[in-house]
Amino acid sequence: MLYPHISIVLDMAGCPNRCKHCWIGHSPNGHLTENDLRYAAAQFRPYAEKLTVYDWTREPDYTDDYRQRWALCNELSDGERDHFELISAWRMARDPEYAPWVASLGIKAAQLTLFGVREKTDYYTGRRGAYDDILHAMDTLLAHGMAPRIQIFVNKDNVDELPLIDQLIDDMQLIPRCAAIGQEFVCFMHQGSCDGENEKLYPIRSTPDDLAKLPPRLVDMSLRHWQADNLVQVFGLMEADLVAHLSSSTETENLAENEPVLYIDKDFNAYPNFGAMEPSWCLGNLKTDGAAAILRSFSENRTPAQHTRLTVPVGTMVKALGDPASQRLFTREDYIQYILNRYCRK
Ligand code: SF4
Repeated sequence: MLYPHISIVLDMAGCPNRCKHCWIGHSPNGHLTENDLRYAAAQFRPYAEKLTVYDWTREPDYTDDYRQRWALCNELSDGERDHFELISAWRMARDPEYAPWVASLGIKAAQLTLFGVREKTDYYTGRRGAYDDILHAMDTLLAHGMAPRIQIFVNKDNVDELPLIDQLIDDMQLIPRCAAIGQEFVCFMHQGSCDGENEKLYPIRSTPDDLAKLPPRLVDMSLRHWQADNLVQVFGLMEADLVAHLSSSTETENLAENEPVLYIDKDFNAYPNFGAMEPSWCLGNLKTDGAAAILRSFSENRTPAQHTRLTVPVGTMVKALGDPASQRLFTREDYIQYILNRYCRK
């Protein structure tokens, strides 16, 4: 069993935040060591033509030795790795050496997440001071030639506050300041998936009347970002329509891939990167089951979630659990994932 490419992504240190939209779910922070990283890489190495190793699934560069960990992941990986356009706003507010280091990796833009202004952003990020860190990160990124890219999660609770983000863009002059470093300012809205912690926000999920409240400039920016013609392509359809469309669907899906990306938590439990880190997606434990068993579990769809998706038609799950009266908006794929997770817990 040799895979062309395996990526392993260790949740070594966790995260300073407890975001209410966290799709991988909350967990106490771990304290994995460089030896744990070396161990995990060595376990998967025999099964990969190409191995790529990452030291975080949650906050990037959260530990003080982030530069050494970056170097170690490069040493354990085959070929070039991307840092991704994700940075730690928490670290950027506390470590003056961080922004120059990020810039030295060639990153041109970095994503930051807002839910409104101070109170809402702190509440939904799960940490007091998060909003101030994010504003500080915007200035710091720009000072080092990188553009802040703003992601906004929308729900019924924060939709009325979005004009304040529109105003913030002008107050901070983000459009001309990005232009001055040769970058386009990007901002986009969506409602996120409905798994992990985000599933708890189902009661306040956006409905069509909320879309009329979205600030027009943020709508234009979002459509440009998503390369969409209209908000239906971004926010999806009402659950009632999805239930009507999908109730007769016989569709199933084989979620196994020959280039697995595996999230490994602080206790060495492994999950595919497209599922929440919850029991129905757990592929096994690296220490007790081993890498071969984890890969077999993935490739043979042995987890309850993958097995259900492979064997139970979408229509069966939707008829059992969909709400035909709900106006909540979902993209088709997010809705199937939401229903699948609930079906697995039945
Ligand atoms: S969404 Fe990301 S930053 Fe927020 S709690 Fe989850 S892992 Fe941490």
